[in-house]
Parts: sequence; C-alpha cells; structure tokens
Amino acid sequence: MQYSKRVKKNRGDGRVSHPRKGCNMELYHMADVLPLLGIPEPPYGRTSFYVNCPCCDTDPRKKHMNINLQKDVFRCPRCGASGGIFDLYSLHTGTPREKVREILVEKLGNPETRPKRRQEAPIVHECPLTDVDTRHVTYMALLSKLTLAPDHLENLLARGLTEAEISRLGYKTTPIVGSGAIARQMQGDGLYLAGVPGFYRNESGAWTFVHEQRGILIPVRNVHGQIQGLQIRRDQVSRRKFRWVSSAEKPDGCRAEGWTHLAGVPTARIILTEGPMKADVIHTLTGDTVLAVPGVNALTQLEKALEVLRAQGVEEIKTAFDMDMATNEHVQNGYHSLTEMLAQMGFHYGTYLWDPQYKGLDDYIWQGCLHRHRPE
Ligand SMILES: [Zn+2]
Repeated sequence: MQYSKRVKKNRGDGRVSHPRKGCNMELYHMADVLPLLGIPEPPYGRTSFYVNCPCCDTDPRKKHMNINLQKDVFRCPRCGASGGIFDLYSLHTGTPREKVREILVEKLGNPETRPKRRQEAPIVHECPLTDVDTRHVTYMALLSKLTLAPDHLENLLARGLTEAEISRLGYKTTPIVGSGAIARQMQGDGLYLAGVPGFYRNESGAWTFVHEQRGILIPVRNVHGQIQGLQIRRDQVSRRKFRWVSSAEKPDGCRAEGWTHLAGVPTARIILTEGPMKADVIHTLTGDTVLAVPGVNALTQLEKALEVLRAQGVEEIKTAFDMDMATNEHVQNGYHSLTEMLAQMGFHYGTYLWDPQYKGLDDYIWQGCLHRHRPE
C-alpha cells in the first residue's frame, strides 16, 4: 500500500524501489546531491532556501530557485523550472536525466550499502491555511495596531501614492518589538491566529508574529477588497526586496500562497502587472484597475482571480510587466504561458510598451510623464 503511494508522489525521483526485495527504500536525498553540484548548504535548521537558478539567473549573485530539503524538490518561481533530485542534477550538469542514477551510484556509493545519512531535523507542525474571511479580519486587526514610520510614508509618497490612498490601502511598518504582546491582545479579542501566515507559537507555546526584517507591510487584496495575505518590502536589501509574510517551518505556523492583488474595482478593461505595490501605484496615478501577480510563473492563483473577474464583466487584459523581462528568455516563457492562458479563458489581451529606460509602468508614468523625482 505504502509503496505505490510513495513512488507516485515522488515520481520515482531519487527514491526507487529495491529491485530484488521489492521494498521501498529512500536512496538519495537532495542534501546528498547539493555538494556534488557546488550548491551551498542552507542556513542551519532551514529546510527551504534560495539558490542561484541555473536556468534564468545569469547573474551568479541572484537567487531565484527554491530548494526544499524536506520534500526533496526544487522550483524557480521566476522561470518555472522545477523537479526532483535527478532533474536538478541533470539541469546543473547537462547529464541526460536517465543517466543520473548511474552517476549518483558511482559518486555517492551504492545506496544499499552506503552509510545512513545523518539524522534529519524534526519536522515542525504547521497549520493549514484558514479561509480568506478569517484572514481578512485578523490582518485588519493586526494592521490597526501598527503605525507607518515617517521614512516609509516618504518612500510611498515618492512613488506617487497619496496620503489618503496609503491610509485607505492599509500600508504599515513591520512591528520590530512587541509582536508577542500584539498577538496576545489579538487572541484576547477572540481573533483566530492559527492558519494565518505570519503567526506561530514561540518556544513557550505563546502566539507571536514574525519579525525578521524592517520594512513596509503591503496588504494583498482579492476582488472583494479582502486581505488575503501580506507582503513586505524590505528595507536595505537589494535582491528579493518583496517577500510574503509567512510563518512556514515555525511551530503552528502557516505558509503564504502566491496570491493576486486587485487595485480598483472590476472594469471591462484591466491592467495586469507584477507586484501589489506597483499595482497600487499605477491605479493611483491612472485610475485604471490593476491586477497584480507575484510573478509571471505564478499562474494558479491568477487563474482563480481571473475566473471571478470574468464573471464580473472583465473582457480585456493589458499586460504591463517590467521592461527588463523582455531580455530574459526564461521569464518570457512564463509570459507566453500567461498569454496562452488569457486566450484560452476568452480574454482579449494586449501589451503596454514604454520607454525601456524606465523599468516599470509606474516608473514611466511617474518620472517619464509626470516628471517627478523618485529616490531609491
Ligand atoms: Zn529560474
């Protein structure tokens, strides 16, 4: 029973059945193969981390590919490359996938006789994601307890948002201290924290909220204006500036999904772009309704959102992704599957093009058309 289920789940990848005994053995793990590929070990205790993507990260310092040691899989949300241990090895070395097992036996030893790998870190229990109604109420209560720091207000104004919009949208500064006290208060108010990404229990079992790095909290809203999740625009980082608020891999924590964000109300024609903050800025500057995806390869949530929008009368989609996308063929692949999906769903679609010296449509309107300065 166990046997067929596991092989199916793992697509036979790196875990194959013993040919003679007919029992299932875990042969190789992602952690065994990483040193062979020169991929650095994850920070201590982490089972999910980001590395350079051999497909789309031309700059060796970029890290778009996620490796999950617990599930023995990898996935790049930027270019869509994904798979298991054998796929990763093949991708890195150019070895045909069907030859990989043979090579691993040669390099790592026969899996039946090689010594057992070191004890795995205990698996942390996470909560399943709760419904959007609950998440919205909890996040609204959280944001009402936070403030927006003056430097963050400056930053948002310098992008073209107005004070009224910033307040209406609910942008706040991440809590640096007092997360435990806020969570305790919220729990006392009868709010649900389990299954809301960002909340988890500390060592003494008390609820708290993640506090990793200072930044601006961005509410990510669905078609009905409900907060589905939060993103952080992190201060003082140059890469992966925007991250989901997530308490994955923490006790009773919860992981975020690649939610879409709608700025404005559904209209016959909407703009599709990347990133919720960008969507809010474009909406404020133009009055157009803007839907944001977290990345061109995050299509699952996009399809769900578009189904709702289609029912509400949306007919035409104008895509406005950053101009540097045009130079990366792997990201372009993602863009092609996106437009294919739009066509299949019966939408008319087109693309906005603008002066490529401005990276995003928001930059182009703010700086190129309105001649406003935007500090970084
Ligand atoms: Zn990639």
